[in-house]
Amino acid sequence: MKQELVFEAPRRAMPPRHFADLDDGARVVAVTELGLPAFRAKQLANQYFGRLTADPAAMTDLPAAVRAQVADALFPTLLTPARQVECDAGETRKTLWRAVDGTTFESVLMRYPGRDGSAGRATVCISSQAGCGMACPFCATGQGGLNRNLSVAEILEQVRAAASELRDERGERLSNIVFMGMGEPLANYNRVLSVLRRIIAAPPNGFGISARSVTVSTVGLAPAIRRLADEGLGVTLALSLHAPDDELRNTLVPVNNRWDITEVLDAATYYARTTGRRVSVEYALIRDVNDQPWRADLLGKKLHAAFGPLVHVNLIPLNPTPGSRWDASPKPVEREFVARVRAQGVTCTVRDTRGREIAAACGQLAAEG
Ligand code: SAH
Repeated sequence: MKQELVFEAPRRAMPPRHFADLDDGARVVAVTELGLPAFRAKQLANQYFGRLTADPAAMTDLPAAVRAQVADALFPTLLTPARQVECDAGETRKTLWRAVDGTTFESVLMRYPGRDGSAGRATVCISSQAGCGMACPFCATGQGGLNRNLSVAEILEQVRAAASELRDERGERLSNIVFMGMGEPLANYNRVLSVLRRIIAAPPNGFGISARSVTVSTVGLAPAIRRLADEGLGVTLALSLHAPDDELRNTLVPVNNRWDITEVLDAATYYARTTGRRVSVEYALIRDVNDQPWRADLLGKKLHAAFGPLVHVNLIPLNPTPGSRWDASPKPVEREFVARVRAQGVTCTVRDTRGREIAAACGQLAAEG
């Protein structure tokens, strides 16, 4: 199926205003509009970002008489979990969310218990758009097209829900956030930027998750990558490359017809140089499509020349998607690919894919109820 690239989301009504949509200044304005003293703004922020509460009825430091009014004005219920499925003995959990307007999208929570007494990790993979306009043919989300952008609060609510589940069920903290769910985060740039600021700000202004533990994954919108570099946030950038040559990448990642490999690597090296952070290059290994030894050599060569040590290749064994004729590469082919990339002086690992059997793995999110 050939699809058009969609950079601008269709103009759909956005959800009602939520506290999490507002920056510090706007929160003060909002509480004063309700006739409350300005210090309530900080209290509410502490509840939301610090205690992970979005229900004013449970905010005991708020006078009982104003809780209902605050709930109506600032804490509408934006997301309802429509379905949750688990695998890996409960270590991977996918949630299908339903927004106020019926829009659906998914997020995935993954726990990686620590070994030998070391601390474990918990990562939430969140969506930035309902659907996606980038039309990559091997990705289920890309095949469904773009429905709409998610609001700042709709994205933050996925994080808050994951963090509060972990705390309540396990007494654990959320350590990592990856923008690898549905959508192209850099096509919803301004909202994603606000979300990033709130994720990394210390409580009460944000969730206080360290910037280096937050990964923004992109198909390669070169100008937006440069812009993000200049914001000075220090989040990790992941670039979905999937091919080292334009001829193949034009078909696998259609946005390559707009910003080709040279341009996107230029932007990504600018990111690495500006932030000092290593860029993660994503490469879904597809049998007989992009897994040839010469492509491994070329990938390693190009990346080493562009980034020096500031790059890491993440191979993702292709996950099956409905109707796709493509398949993951056989293990020996994968091993040789890894060895050849490494031989060029570039670190390379194979991603441990989680959630295949519940269609929660990379490229499988389609938000089908
Ligand atoms: N739009 C962003 C965010 C999605 S991240 C991006 O493309 O980077 C999801 C990652 O999984 C991307 O690297 C994507 O290319 C990859 N992916 C998509 N479909 C896949 C599949 N079927 N198997 C393995 N990886 C896939």
